[in-house]
Formats: sequence, C-alpha cells, structure tokens
Amino acid sequence: MRDQYLQAMGITRWVKRELDPVSVDDVEEIEKPVAVESVAPEVAVIPEPTAPVITEPKEIELTVVQNEESHALDELDWPSLEKQVTSCVACDLHATRTNTVFGEGVQQADWLIVGDAPGTEEDIHGKPFLGQGGQLLTAMIEAMGLKRENVFITNSLKCRPPESRDPLESEIIACHVFLKQQIKLLKPKVILAVGRVAAHNLLGINEPMKAMRGHTVTYKDTGIPVIVTYHPAYLLRAPSNKGKAWQDLQLAMKVVAEVTE
Ligand code: URA
Repeated sequence: MRDQYLQAMGITRWVKRELDPVSVDDVEEIEKPVAVESVAPEVAVIPEPTAPVITEPKEIELTVVQNEESHALDELDWPSLEKQVTSCVACDLHATRTNTVFGEGVQQADWLIVGDAPGTEEDIHGKPFLGQGGQLLTAMIEAMGLKRENVFITNSLKCRPPESRDPLESEIIACHVFLKQQIKLLKPKVILAVGRVAAHNLLGINEPMKAMRGHTVTYKDTGIPVIVTYHPAYLLRAPSNKGKAWQDLQLAMKVVAEVTE
C-alpha cells in the first residue's frame, strides 16, 4: 500500500545509488502559480534514519499582538478562535481576501502540517492545500500511513497575499498569534513545516532549507518537535528532491514514534 502512495509522490521503491555531488535542494520553494508538468517517478535514495539532532532555535520576536482582541486569543477555544480569524483585520490582507483559511482536520490530531499561505483556490474555497500542491501533500501524508482527514493542516497566513506573492514578514508576525493558539489547542505530537516560510515562522530562524531540514527543533517552550521539509509546490517544480522530502517524513515518523512510546 505504501508503495502506491510513494508512487503518487513520484517516488519508486528505494534503490541505493551515489548521491549527486551537486545538490539543488536550496532553491526557493515558496509556492508560485506555475504550469506544472506531470511528475516523473524518481528513484529515491533513502538512507537509514539517523537519530534526530536537537538544536536550539535562535530567538525571534513572533508574538506581536496588533489588536486588542488578540490579547485574549490564548483563552479561546476552537470555534471562538476560528471566528476571530474570520473577522481579523490585523493586516492589509483582509481587504483583498475572499475567505480566510483557518485550516482543517482533526482537532486532536497528532500531526500538524503548516504551509505558507493560501493561494487562489484556497482563498475561493476557504480550505488549505487544494490543487496539485494539495494533491501532492495528500500523497505525502498517505505515504506515511496517515489519512489527510486525520491530521490538521493550516498555514502561517490565514489570508491569501494578492497575486499569491510571497508573505511579508509583518503579515507572518501579525498572523502568528492564530497559529500559536492553534498549536496550544491541538497539542500535536509533531509539527511538519512545509517550506521555508513555515520553517522560518515556526523555528524563529531564517536559514536556507538545507540548514533547517534534518533537525528536530522544538516550537518555542512547548517541547513540540518541528520537522522541516520541502513545500509540495516546490517538489512539483523540482521532483528530484522528493527523495529528500521522504527522508524528512521518515524523520517525522520516527519522532512521533519516540514521543508515543
Ligand atoms: N500553499 C500553501 O502553503 N498553503 C496552501 O494552503 C496552499 C498553497
């Protein structure tokens, strides 16, 4: 069964081979509306999982509260939090959004998956990760033996940036209070940060992807491990990195298994 899902990710059963000396894993991976070619299956090199390296995140000020209502956010339950997101005017994105995208999934999920920001389709439908990127994310989830409906999926931003431009730092900071409260309510066993924006937001560091992948860093003072992997939209553009994404997913699975023991 897993083979089928790995195939859907574009990964065939792993076969040992020499790694390319030149890696292209550090290219910007933020989702852009691009014409996507069909994904050719890749031969992935999956090394034995290694023990996670625990590093400390550097400090970054993320808890900027811009409006009075936000002061009470850490008291809110799921329905009230969602209402706050729906009516949020903390940054300019409220003026151009069609819908807010709160996130979806099980509110007691072990897995929280965080992307960057809603795109066109997500803005229209008010749901995260639709379209081809969403399909690949679903394949990644299923490759781990999970079901999309049993995890919780959200974004660093709850509103679409106009023309699907990159999120601004100020927007990520203004929106972080919502993600923070979602994490508090959910208490996931692991957070999978997909893409550099989510990784930067959750880890508080702005390093290239290759520096942020492969480590287990905890989210603030929660003790919840954050694992970083590539954004599915990036993987659609650079399918040769799917093997590395699968390594990240294996690390995340290992971390969850350790926490569950
Ligand atoms: N990209 C994201 O990071 N999130 C979405 O919901 C859609 C595209």
